[in-house]
Parts: sequence; C-alpha cells; structure tokens
Amino acid sequence: MDRRREILKLIKEGEQNTKKLAEKFGVSLMSIYRDLKELEKEGLIIRKYGKLEVANRNVKEAKDKERDKCAFCQKENDDRLRFTFHLENGKQIHTCCPHCGLLLYKSIIDPIEAITTKDFITCNLLSGTSAYYVLGSAATPCCSPSALAFSRKEDAYMFKNGFGGEVFEFDEATKVIWELMKYGSILKIGKFNK
Ligand SMILES: [Zn+2]
Ligand SMILES: [Zn+2]
Repeated sequence: MDRRREILKLIKEGEQNTKKLAEKFGVSLMSIYRDLKELEKEGLIIRKYGKLEVANRNVKEAKDKERDKCAFCQKENDDRLRFTFHLENGKQIHTCCPHCGLLLYKSIIDPIEAITTKDFITCNLLSGTSAYYVLGSAATPCCSPSALAFSRKEDAYMFKNGFGGEVFEFDEATKVIWELMKYGSILKIGKFNK
C-alpha cells in the first residue's frame, strides 16, 4: 500500500504526530493506526511512549523477544500464568503472572480494551476484570507475594483454604497487591477483607 510507504518516509523525516499524518492523507485516525500497526508488525517502525521511530533491522527480533518478557519485572512470561492488557490502540502488554499485571495496572495510561489471564486450575483464558484473585497464598509459582486468578469464586475459596491468602475481585486486588508489596503481610490490609 502506497500510503504506508509514504508514512514510513514521513516518519523517517521526523514526523511523530499521528493526528498530523491523518490530516495529511485525509483519512481517519483509525486508518493511520492500522497503517502504523502494519508497519510495526513488519518491523519497520517502533512506537515507544507515543513516539514514532524508524526501526533498524534488528528491531523485529528484539521486539519478538521483548514481547515475551514481563513488562513489569522483565522475567520470561509463563504461558500458564500470563496476564495480558489489550489496549485500544491494538497493542498488547504482557506480564508473567497476575502479580505483575495487578501491579502494573494503574500505571497503564493508554485506554484498555480488555484484560485476559488464565485460570490457575483449568488454564482456560478468562477476563482479568471478572476473575477472583487469591493474593498472598503459600503457592508461589511465579512472583511473590503470590497472585493467582480463578474464574470461579468457589475455586478461589477452595484454593485459599488449602494454601492460605485472601480472595479479592479485580479492583480490590489491584490495591491490595500494592499493600502486600509495601507491608509484606495481608494482616495489615484487614479493611479489604470481608
Ligand atoms: Zn513479572
Ligand atoms: Zn510473575
């Protein structure tokens, strides 16, 4: 597509403003985003902190590797525990497990379309915002303090009965995980426990 080549040229010349690109070509922002996504997929450009940059040849490889590192702790992502933010701009942010995902949540500024993670028992994909989280249990397959996701409330409570910790819904969990990081104990956050 010619427009993509033109866009690439403009980015090479230093253009970083998506809105200006849309105006220049007389198309919608969405079309420009699609073009940028394609260029990014081809490894020709990188989008970093809202800036557009022309990629060098090794970037595609580096990007593939980067994609599989946790965006919070840099650990390699584990498919069994993966926690993913799907952004409205088409990008995905992966973390190694719900622990890092919950910690990262409040620092994501881009609009989030969906959050997915896996059920710790069934490994089925589930919506991160409707999952039940067991925080601070004795089971730490990835990061500590442990945060594990369950699609069924009953499973979360059964797990808690065996391995300790507390059960939280998403919103609470994003707060409690920080308290846990700060104080290292779930006792100090009693106000969240019901
Ligand atoms: Zn991590
Ligand atoms: Zn982890």
